[in-house]
Amino acid sequence: MRKQFAVIGLGRFGSSICKELYHMGHEVFAIDTDETKITAVKDFSTYTFVGNGTDEALLEKVGIRNFNYVIVAIGDDIQASILTTLHVKDHNVPNVWVKAQNNYHHKVLEKIGADRVFHPEKEMGSRIAAYLTSDTVLDYIDLSADYSIIEMLATKKISGKTLIELDPRKNYGCTIIAIKQLDKVDVTPDPAAPIQKGDILIMIGDKRDLRRFREGEL
Ligand code: ADP
Repeated sequence: MRKQFAVIGLGRFGSSICKELYHMGHEVFAIDTDETKITAVKDFSTYTFVGNGTDEALLEKVGIRNFNYVIVAIGDDIQASILTTLHVKDHNVPNVWVKAQNNYHHKVLEKIGADRVFHPEKEMGSRIAAYLTSDTVLDYIDLSADYSIIEMLATKKISGKTLIELDPRKNYGCTIIAIKQLDKVDVTPDPAAPIQKGDILIMIGDKRDLRRFREGEL
């Protein structure tokens, strides 16, 4: 379903979000104070506007209340990021997602009603660290400080075993939610079918349990 997004702040993060959403077929409205940033996303946005996110009259004028999602990706100017978030939330936008610079900024954003707070640099750092420290982890999403979802390559040691035999829930406290083979994703894997070498296991669990599973089984 086509959704309406407004992206305020078009640095590296905001502009790449803008491009991705546009390529996914959504309607994207891009706002930045800097005209050169607006020019750079012209081909990847439905509408553009040179303006300041902290300007209440501007938000009113562009009808910010009509958007399903507003992404505030203002960089270093924490004050502007907070004020913009506050104004957007005042317009009752249901999903306001904001990029935070640090933990204090994060806390304030949550207090004033941001629905989701990102730390792209930190999140990317954790993902890269996970690839670097493991030959088998292909991708990684942090759900919270303790929980994550990983995509893990099934190696020789695991192949031939069934989910019943492995029983990761009982033995490790984590769950295999899907198995990927080439482009096919099986979200209801047969518990009695042997895992093939090269299958990709998509697993959810406490990070320590996921590590125990990887180290115990591979
Ligand atoms: P990143 O780390 O994602 O590259 P930057 O700090 O480089 O972030 O970019 C932030 C963007 O937000 C810049 O393009 C800047 O012009 C824009 N910006 C800063 N303040 C405002 C504001 N008050 N309203 C709209 N855009 C803003």
